[in-house]
Amino acid sequence: MVPVTRGTPLLTSWHCGGGGSKAVLPPVSIVWPCSLSVEEYASTGRTLEFPRPDCPSCLKKMTFWSGYQRQIREDGRCRSVWVPRVRCDRCRATHALLPAFVLVGRLDVVETVGAVLEAVVEGPGGVRPAAANVQVPHTTVREWLRRFGSRASELAVTFAALAAELGGDVITPLPDAPRSALDAFRGAWRAVSGFPGWLGVGRWRFVSAVTGGRLIATNMNTPYLIVGKRRFMPPVP
Ligand SMILES: [Zn+2]
Repeated sequence: MVPVTRGTPLLTSWHCGGGGSKAVLPPVSIVWPCSLSVEEYASTGRTLEFPRPDCPSCLKKMTFWSGYQRQIREDGRCRSVWVPRVRCDRCRATHALLPAFVLVGRLDVVETVGAVLEAVVEGPGGVRPAAANVQVPHTTVREWLRRFGSRASELAVTFAALAAELGGDVITPLPDAPRSALDAFRGAWRAVSGFPGWLGVGRWRFVSAVTGGRLIATNMNTPYLIVGKRRFMPPVP
């Protein structure tokens, strides 16, 4: 997906859209490991040199195909950012090319969501202080936690497997699934941060990239990852 060259991150991921009863799969989003601040990204706008990924289905290089503006909130401030679309001529499919600070269908940056998950799952406080801390309504934070809790076991297994795949430490599962998932995020992050390009991207954007922006989305299929030049599909618990 993102070209694997010296100095660029080695991993990228995508998700097939939910199947459902429709014969045609809805577009997938492709997340690229953007290391720019939201402000830098927003101010560069359409002139940014976006990576040109390969098609997830046929691996042909895709072309840029318009795009759209969307809102993103960080530190209580909303900004409008440009999200390009890419298209595969052979498959006639278009995909949104999301920077890794964005989560699919969420207004807040992944760093905000991550900080809240850690504060509530591992900290002594509760939902309300964590929500107030990042200036997000507590009802929104409750929903994040519910979504995260419902897939925490799967996330824990996925990231533990990824850590092993990247040559990291063996991660022992904890009895509590959300804690286990957070622990596995850190383990995989320790493993990947030794590879070129990732340190500047940061841990939560790495998590966003691995989950295809679907850390707390309404549905999450198994992510498909490319590690180096190999495809990697984590085991499903
Ligand atoms: Zn294609």
